[in-house]
Amino acid sequence: MFENLSERLGGVFDRLTKQGALSEDDVKTALREVRVALLEADVSLPVARSFIKAVEKKATGAAVTKSVTPGQQVVKIVHDELIQVLTGEGEPGALKIDNAPAPILMVGLQGGGKTTTTAKLARRLKDRDGKRVLMASLDIYRPAAMEQLKILGEQIGVDTLPIVAGQSPVEIAKRAKQQATLGGYDVYMLDTAGRLQIDQVLMQEVEDVRDAVKPRETLLVVDGLTGQVAVEVAQEFDDKIGISGVVLTRMDGDGRGGAALSMRAITGKPIKFVGLGEKMDALETFEPERIAGRILGMGDIVALVEKAQQTLEVEQAERMMKRFQKGQFNMNDLKMQLEQMMKMGGLEGMMSMMPGAGKMAKQMEGAGIDDKVIRQQIALIQSMTKKERANPQILQASRKKRIAAGAGMDVSDLNKLLKMQRQMSDMMKKLGKMGKGGMLKQAMK
Ligand code: GDP
Repeated sequence: MFENLSERLGGVFDRLTKQGALSEDDVKTALREVRVALLEADVSLPVARSFIKAVEKKATGAAVTKSVTPGQQVVKIVHDELIQVLTGEGEPGALKIDNAPAPILMVGLQGGGKTTTTAKLARRLKDRDGKRVLMASLDIYRPAAMEQLKILGEQIGVDTLPIVAGQSPVEIAKRAKQQATLGGYDVYMLDTAGRLQIDQVLMQEVEDVRDAVKPRETLLVVDGLTGQVAVEVAQEFDDKIGISGVVLTRMDGDGRGGAALSMRAITGKPIKFVGLGEKMDALETFEPERIAGRILGMGDIVALVEKAQQTLEVEQAERMMKRFQKGQFNMNDLKMQLEQMMKMGGLEGMMSMMPGAGKMAKQMEGAGIDDKVIRQQIALIQSMTKKERANPQILQASRKKRIAAGAGMDVSDLNKLLKMQRQMSDMMKKLGKMGKGGMLKQAMK
């Protein structure tokens, strides 16, 4: 999800993070692009505008700490601001369900995922919180909808209210309440009927049910892929019915994600859960940190920088840099680099913290590079003697065979590793020549 926005911002910040210092103009230019990206991600104009304003204010006045570049600082400010806008009060995913039996009213348009989400949430309450849950469908217009909930209930082991033909939604709701009380249920969930669009009859019906059961939670289920429409629907339901939270569904698709940001900013209602698929376990609490990271696609550059600094001792780095400047890059250096990569959470861990990671990860996969390969490469280097590591060019065919066998690999794997070391060594030589460490120093920062 959010691929579009993250890729766009990835490009913007890629440029930023490569610059040493950041002027006010740079901030402005970057934020202009962030704004376009937000709008393209279907964030509403006023929300994008006020978001950018807040970031600009913080970015311009912010002191740039030593450990990060100004570009990374801006990234962090954008990231923090996203979290601030996305965060609701209270614990993520918390529901008011004390005073059994607690009614939960599920509302929304048809096809938004209401029935599916009702069942997903019931399953979560049962399995995770150990609650006894009763579900009831109030969709008297579509017998298939009632049947659907019943089938889902059987599938997840949650009781549904027996279907009685000819009752009104309010009557069904009252019956659900009665059964929940008599049956000792903790929660009863009411899956209301949806319409293709908001209409007066629907709203009145939901209002009547609301008044009849006084729900502890009224959750609006909306299709996250519909962007602005989702926000408008939420506003309308909130005005008429009063909602306590939102569930954004289809966040597993390649939606534009801006809906989450606008939803929070415009309605002020917490997004409690996100739907991530059709399966019954594809419901997760809404986590601002994760969503912000995904919107940005930057992961957490700052965390990467700090982590890298912790792991890589400065001394070691300096020693290495001196050698690199002379164009020296042997197997020991390569091993150190590979180990460094593993320490930072392996390729996957590192990737998740880097901009444009999605794309790159795919490329690396295509090239057959993954954590397993890195570990194998380290094993190969470990099978070499000290002398061979320092001077891999002395390796003869017979030694190559034994080293590969020692690491449980093929000679072709070893040859690939040797080629990699030669290429890195060549690159270091070139970099070393390009002005005494200028480039390299930048790259090491
Ligand atoms: P309702 O009319 O609002 O009750 O919608 P349904 O619950 O019947 O869902 C409509 C369709 O959307 C079904 O095929 C669901 O499987 C699917 N669906 C619901 N939630 C999600 C989700 O989070 N991700 C995906 N990919 N599909 C979903």
